Amino acid sequence: KRRIAVMTSGGDAPGMNGAVRAIVRMAIHYDCEAYAVYEGYDGLVQGGDMIKEMKWEDVRGFLGEGGTLIGTARCMSFYERPGRLTAAKNMILKGIDALIICGGDGSLTGADKFRAEWPSLLEELVNTNQLTAQDCQPFQHLNIVGLVGSIDNDLSMTDATIGCYSSLARICEAIDSVDTTATSHQRAFVIEVMGRHCGWLALMAGVSTGADYIFIPENPPSENWQDEMCEVVKRHRAKGKRKTIVIVAEGAHDQNLTKISPTMVKDLLSQKAGLDTRVTTLGHVQRGGTPCAYDRMLATLQGVEAVKAVLEATPETPSPVICMVENKIERRPLLEAVAQTKKVAEAIEAKDFQTAMKLRDAE
Ligand code: ATP
Repeated sequence: KRRIAVMTSGGDAPGMNGAVRAIVRMAIHYDCEAYAVYEGYDGLVQGGDMIKEMKWEDVRGFLGEGGTLIGTARCMSFYERPGRLTAAKNMILKGIDALIICGGDGSLTGADKFRAEWPSLLEELVNTNQLTAQDCQPFQHLNIVGLVGSIDNDLSMTDATIGCYSSLARICEAIDSVDTTATSHQRAFVIEVMGRHCGWLALMAGVSTGADYIFIPENPPSENWQDEMCEVVKRHRAKGKRKTIVIVAEGAHDQNLTKISPTMVKDLLSQKAGLDTRVTTLGHVQRGGTPCAYDRMLATLQGVEAVKAVLEATPETPSPVICMVENKIERRPLLEAVAQTKKVAEAIEAKDFQTAMKLRDAE
């Protein structure tokens, strides 16, 4: 029987468990054996009990659970060839030659690198007498399929990443709570949300809650933003608004890439706009809790497609990443999606914000 493993890696995101459940059950449905690698690449490098067979009932209840029940980690040793060599050995010892990874762009890059190196890793394992040629013979090709689990919605080529809508819903709930107290006291609140190179959460939360002003990395404000923001806020107040909400993405900066911090914005609102202002940093609350219906659906459909992609793969097929494109589940070349994602960060670093925005618009 074919053995297919699933792993979650990088930052956790609500919906990852739904993906694990779908992959395990779909693999069993197709008469394969399903395995889970615990604690991300750490588990692959440690091997043994960290790579466990999963039966149908082992993923019962997974769909509605937040975070990742099989654990996730950042694994330093997988960046180096010796770590990947041990990981390859552990996979062969378990008879696994297909790995579905749910993680961010780093995790997917690592996976594709692993696949490219696989034949030479096998050769080294045989040459160093760690495995025999016979051990390796049935596992000549490594199949890799990616699913994007990230609350930031920061991967190109997919409309949504697993977790982003749960996080957005949580942010909106939190801002609604802040709203009531802000309105009561006629206060201003500066809310920091996650998103290093990607302002999707900040932008969508701003639209969804009717915020007064937002700061996102891809589209920094004009040089005169301090005055501009205060004018906008004062204009809204003049129209009768009793509260002010400004959302700052954690990666927000000005045109010179100087960080725009929530404290900086708070001081401006207090001193220039004369508002009683507080800062609320939502932090890991945004990552936690149960996945919303959309993320459960996305994770399930993508998990099903990932198993199909494994079973249809040939050695020539580039590793795919499973995407949502205009409401349809589609496969895209994993490396192209990662390269396109990196271009946004590079454009921001080069202060080419027009390109950064164009690339985001094209997604
Ligand atoms: P997030 O978006 O939450 O940061 P991510 O998957 O991008 O998720 P990373 O910390 O970049 O998070 O990667 C997770 C793990 O994937 C790393 O700890 C490492 O083990 C592996 N990894 C990442 N990039 C590479 C790479 N270039 N080569 C080998 N392994 C990598």
